[in-house]
Amino acid sequence: VTDDADSGTAMAAALAELVRDLGDALLGADDGLDRFTEPARGRGGPALAVVRPRDVAEVRRAVQWARRHRVHLLPQGAVSGLVGASTPPVDGPPVVVLSTEQLVDGLVVDPVDRTAVVPAGLRLSALECALAPHGLTFPIDLGADPTIGGMVATNTGGARMLRHGDVRRRVLGVQAVVADDAVSVVDDLSTLRKDNTGPDVSGLFVGSAGSLGIVTRVALDLERRPAHSATALVSLSGDEAALDALLVVERVAGERLSALEVLSAPAVDAARSVLDGIDPLGGRPASTTMLVELVGSADVDDALLGVLAALDEGARGSGVEAAVVPPARAWALRHAITEGLRRRGTVLGLDVSVPRPALPTFLAEARAAVAATDGSAEVADFGHWADGGVHCNVVWPDPHQPDPEVVTSCRDAVFAIAVERYRGSWSAEHGVGPHNADWWRRTTPPEVAAAVRGLRSLFDPLRVLGHPDLPW
Ligand SMILES: Cc1cc2nc3c(=O)[nH]c(=O)nc-3n(C[C@H](O)[C@H](O)[C@H](O)COP(=O)(O)OP(=O)(O)OC[C@H]3O[C@@H](n4cnc5c(N)ncnc54)[C@H](O)[C@@H]3O)c2cc1C
Repeated sequence: VTDDADSGTAMAAALAELVRDLGDALLGADDGLDRFTEPARGRGGPALAVVRPRDVAEVRRAVQWARRHRVHLLPQGAVSGLVGASTPPVDGPPVVVLSTEQLVDGLVVDPVDRTAVVPAGLRLSALECALAPHGLTFPIDLGADPTIGGMVATNTGGARMLRHGDVRRRVLGVQAVVADDAVSVVDDLSTLRKDNTGPDVSGLFVGSAGSLGIVTRVALDLERRPAHSATALVSLSGDEAALDALLVVERVAGERLSALEVLSAPAVDAARSVLDGIDPLGGRPASTTMLVELVGSADVDDALLGVLAALDEGARGSGVEAAVVPPARAWALRHAITEGLRRRGTVLGLDVSVPRPALPTFLAEARAAVAATDGSAEVADFGHWADGGVHCNVVWPDPHQPDPEVVTSCRDAVFAIAVERYRGSWSAEHGVGPHNADWWRRTTPPEVAAAVRGLRSLFDPLRVLGHPDLPW
C-alpha cells in the first residue's frame, strides 16, 4: 500500500522515464490533449500523456514501459468508436493513450492479388484514395473516418455489410504487439485467402477492443470498385411496410443489392435539419424511409426502376412514393443523421440487432419502453435493416438533460427487449466498451467469458492494455 504522495512521486518518475525513452513521440499535459480525450459521444477523462509511436519498435517500448510501471496503455485510432472504449475514464486509474496517428507508413497494395498490407493508423479515407487508381476498394462503408487498426479492434460493420461482410470477413492477417512477458510481436501477416493451417490467431484481435494487443499492421482482402451504382429513397407507411418492402427489394434486386437502410421519421427530420437546404426527399414529408443501393453494370439504373415498380405493385394500389436519387445525395441524408441528432440534444446511442421478422415489434416495444421511462425522450432509430441491425438512438431534445439513472434505465430497457424477448444482441456492430460492459457480464456464458479472460491472461497478464473498464 502506498499513500498518495508516494504514488504521485512514483508516477512522476515513471513519466520522466517515458520522456527519456520516447520523448520524440510523446505529447504531455501542456500540449493540448483534448482531441485524444474527448470521445465521439459522452464524456472522457484526462490522459497522463499521449504517446504516438512511429513504428513497431516504438510501440514495443511503450508497452514495455506500461508493464514496468503497471500503467494502463489505451490504444487509440480516430476516436470514432461509440462505446466509450477509446478515451480515458472520467474517474479511474491513470491512463496513457497510445495514439496510432503516426503509424501510417508502409502501405503495400497488390492489385493483382487484390490485397493490401495496411499500417494500423491509416484512415479509411486515405486507404480508399490509395486504392482508387487501382480500381480497388476496401468495401466497409460508414459515416465516420476510422483507422484500420480501430476497425479491426471493433470489427466495424457498416452500410455494405449485407454484401461484403464486416471487417472480420476481410482480414487476412494481423501483426500486433502483445503485452506478454517478452512483449512479443505476433506476426501473422499472411495475405493468403486460403491458409487452413490451424486456428485463426489474427482473428483473435478482431473485436478485441485493444485488450489483447496493439494492432500495428493488417492484411486485407479487397474488392473491385463497382462500375455503376444507383440509389433510391422510398417513403413507406411504417415499420411493417418496411419489412414487406425489404423482402420485395431482395427478391427483385438479387445479387445487385449493395445496401438497404431504413430511417425512421425522427431520424429523417434530424438529418434534414443539417443539410442546408438540400432535400434528397424532394419536399416529401418525413416518414419511414428506405434507402436502396444497387451496384453492377450499366443496366443498374433499369434494375433499380424494376425494383421500384415491384414495390409499387406490392403496395396494392396504395402507391409507394419513391425517387431515384444520385448516390451522393441519398447517402448525404443517411450520414447526416448522427450530426442532426447531436445538434438536437443529448443522444444515447444503442446499437442492437434482432432477427429480421422481429424488427417492427421490437421497435414498437422499445419506443414504448423509452416513453414509459422518461416522457421527454424520443427514439430516433435508423439502421442496417437487411442485417437485422438498428441504431436505436434515444434523444433528449435541448434543454432536457437526463439524469444518469434515467440513461441507464433506458439502455437497460431497450437491451432487455432485444436480448430477452427476441434473442437479439446488445451490440450489433459497435463492439464492447464501458457503455455496455455490464451487458457483457450479464449475458456472456461463463465458459465463453472464461475463454476470453484466458486469452487476456496469455497476451496481457498484467492487464495494462485497453480501457480500464473493459469487462474481461
Ligand atoms: C458517425 C459515425 C458512424 C458510425 N457508423 C458505424 C457503422 O455503420 N458501423 C460500425 O460498425 N461502426 C460505426 N461507427 C463506429 C466507429 O466508427 C467504429 O467503431 C470504428 O471503426 C472505430 O475506429 P477508430 O479508429 O475510430 O477507433 P477508436 O474509436 O479510436 O478506438 C476504438 C477501439 O479500438 C481500440 N483500438 C484502436 N486502434 C487500435 C489498434 N491499433 N490496436 C488495438 N486496438 C485499437 C481502442 O482501444 C478502442 O477500444 C460509427 C461512428 C460514427 C462516429
